[in-house]
Amino acid sequence: TIRSMFEQTVAKYPDKEGLVDLRLGKRWTFREWDEEVNRLANAFRASGVEKGDRVSTVLFNTAEFAHVLFACLKIGAIFNPINFRLTEKEITFILEDADPKIVVFENATARQVAGTAKALQGIQYWSIDQHELSFAVNFYQQMEGMEATRPDCELSEDDTYAIMYTSGTTGLPKGVLHSHRDMIDQAVIMAGVVQVTERERGLVTAPIFHCAELHCAFFPRVMMGATNVIMHHFDPKAVLTYIKEEKISSFFAAPTMWNMMLQEDLTNADFSDLEIGFYGGAPMAPALVKQLHDKMGIKLLQAYGMTEMGPAITALMEDEQLVKAGSAGRAILNHEVRVVRTREDGPSEPEDICGPNELGEIIVRGPSMMQGYYKRPEATEEAMYKGWYHSGDIGAFDEDGYLWVSDRVKDMIVSGGENIYSREVEDALFDHELVMDAAVIGEPDEMWGETVVAYVVKKDEALTAEELDEFCTSNNRLARYKRPRRYEFVSELPRNASGKLQKFKLREQVKEM
Ligand code: AMP
Ligand code: MG
Repeated sequence: TIRSMFEQTVAKYPDKEGLVDLRLGKRWTFREWDEEVNRLANAFRASGVEKGDRVSTVLFNTAEFAHVLFACLKIGAIFNPINFRLTEKEITFILEDADPKIVVFENATARQVAGTAKALQGIQYWSIDQHELSFAVNFYQQMEGMEATRPDCELSEDDTYAIMYTSGTTGLPKGVLHSHRDMIDQAVIMAGVVQVTERERGLVTAPIFHCAELHCAFFPRVMMGATNVIMHHFDPKAVLTYIKEEKISSFFAAPTMWNMMLQEDLTNADFSDLEIGFYGGAPMAPALVKQLHDKMGIKLLQAYGMTEMGPAITALMEDEQLVKAGSAGRAILNHEVRVVRTREDGPSEPEDICGPNELGEIIVRGPSMMQGYYKRPEATEEAMYKGWYHSGDIGAFDEDGYLWVSDRVKDMIVSGGENIYSREVEDALFDHELVMDAAVIGEPDEMWGETVVAYVVKKDEALTAEELDEFCTSNNRLARYKRPRRYEFVSELPRNASGKLQKFKLREQVKEM
């Protein structure tokens, strides 16, 4: 179980620094961390939390997030981390579905959380910050006087450890159930991929509620006895400072965060302790991979996956970054990935395998596949058809066996009967040096069915639609039918907390225009 993994590390490295919270300016050795977690677990029990009950968090990256997580595991409660960027309505939906005993939140999320307290009865609200709120109690007050002894609890590796709600870029969010065993498998495999040792000092700056940060970066470090340094939220300048001051040797960031760091002045940056920087969660344009490599000169690693798989399923290793820039790499240990033909009238068949460079749906199986969606047997059966998780991503393997992810099935554009994959057009736009960010969607069109529209954030006012149009069609960069028919220049694109483009929001904006 994850509990025994944590306690093994505590036994092996009791006096080593395990956790740092930069906001609080606090540091814990593994033994101190364990004691804090035990006190919290005992406080949860005293407040009526039993095995199988849910405890939710609406927290940014904080030490308390980590404490709640491990305290849940100590007593067999199910951990439910909620995206801190969600609206009151969305959080209410999740809390109704997950039905937790306790919700832990902070000042920065109090506004969204307050409304849910009005709508829902019987939930205890615990605030980690000092403030008087009629609906909440103080987290630290609840822990006062609690013993630091480990609570007894019968746990099995097949017990559910967490419910994680998928970002729900389409439809309502679904709760993904993962067992202890799933996450140990994912952490062991990722520790190998990232080559984590007990000497590592990792910066936690991408949202910790998302499994990319939590399972691919944070857990492997805890497992190996390495140090997690927690930053409340991402800020490109502060990241550069902390890399230097805290002697950071690895960290994960979404492609859009790396892009923001590239816009900073890097002359005083010091990456001498940084052994690996990894990215994933959304596609990174080849042009950006090359810039990162050239301007920062650091080793890079990409992971591709989804919450349902825990998440990582493939990785592009350091020495493959430039030769295969833009590809998602190859399956990680014990994972099988296939590209299969899609069907109009049901899930893709796992045996109907595509040839090299033939686009189809990416399906996958491996040891960290979810147990299923919470309270949604039909959705579970469909997603895990014949034992393969059907990702809803379109992609292809090249002749060398590298996977290329093209689009979400639902974001694919069909124009004049031709399929156009938005990622290919976005990557072409990123090749232009004055393009800061880009998103491509299909817009309904009487003549063509759909036409390609590009939303672009520019680095320099001088950039025009004419110039981009010429750029896209010159040097055979894009076939003419794929090029955007219209450009909209915007100051920002809607991205969620983990850096994924929210194309449904762009489409809504278009409707309102
Ligand atoms: P989530 O479950 O919220 O993490 O979303 C998973 C989705 O993010 C996948 O199905 C992909 O569409 C996208 N994604 C994640 N990692 C990558 C990556 N490295 N490259 C391209 N798309 C990615
Ligand atoms: Mg499993």
